[in-house]
Amino acid sequence: MTRPTPARSIPARPASTRPPRHVLVLGGTTEGRALAAALDGRPGLRVTSSLAGRVARPRLPAGEVRIGGFGGPDGLADWLRAEAVAAVVDATHPFAAGMSHNAALAAAATGVPLLVLRRPGFAPVAGDRWHRVPSLAAAAGLLPGFGRRVFLSSGRQGIAAFAGLDGLHFVSRSVDPPEPPLPRSLEVVLDRGPFTLDGERALLRGHRIDVLVTKDSGGAATAPKLTAARELGLPVVVVERPPVPGGVPVAPDVPGAVRWLEQLPWCVDPVG
Ligand code: NAP
Repeated sequence: MTRPTPARSIPARPASTRPPRHVLVLGGTTEGRALAAALDGRPGLRVTSSLAGRVARPRLPAGEVRIGGFGGPDGLADWLRAEAVAAVVDATHPFAAGMSHNAALAAAATGVPLLVLRRPGFAPVAGDRWHRVPSLAAAAGLLPGFGRRVFLSSGRQGIAAFAGLDGLHFVSRSVDPPEPPLPRSLEVVLDRGPFTLDGERALLRGHRIDVLVTKDSGGAATAPKLTAARELGLPVVVVERPPVPGGVPVAPDVPGAVRWLEQLPWCVDPVG
């Protein structure tokens, strides 16, 4: 007679024994949130989004979030080492040039692969009356030639560039109120995109705007103001974006950033 083999519990084999690869997303943008959502929960990945802490009530990305500066490029490099970061995606706003510069320096110092995720800039179409300028200061210099009532959609942080223009009336839109120095004649519209074409038409007409100032941020969320300006025949002063740090690869969208992560040597399992 054969004796029954005593039951034995076999320990479950873990799906993977290697620790999750840590991806840092430098965010504060629609693309940063979309990338975090695309990566969050993928097997073998840990995703942390970093926000500067500028906005009082930010839209939080999926996954882990840290808020506040790192303390310059050295602070970021220390953070990358301490948190065993395997890749950084700089998905900051095209005008957050300081953070992009720091990320490039920290990546070079640590050897951590870095990608810039940067949406394409706005593209003019027939009927646009655009005036491209290299800076907010240059935009301020052009304005007196275009009329008296200015819609500033360039954000609250650069508003000081327009503070000396006492002959003009400004309507400024931002998520949080701007801080001094401010133009003498200023109305503040507190709002957060995405904005609709109907809303933009109403805003430009309602405030009897003569000229619009925008950064070349790109993206669908803020493009309707340009359509509305074209329809109304208004001039638009477009501030050109700063360059991406040299030698850093760029993806124009979230699928491109996911493909970049997938081709990294450590990425055994597709993440997308
Ligand atoms: P910035 O001038 O390039 O950066 C200044 C400093 O802020 C950096 O050196 C860094 O401080 C800290 N910082 C910036 N982005 C950070 C991030 N994602 N995580 C942690 N620290 C960050 O940046 P900014 O133009 O003030 O923009 C700040 C944030 O707002 C960015 O996340 C950006 O994506 C978002 N944003 C900017 C604009 C814009 O027009 N500039 C528009 C929409 C959203 P430390 O040196 O201490 O690390």
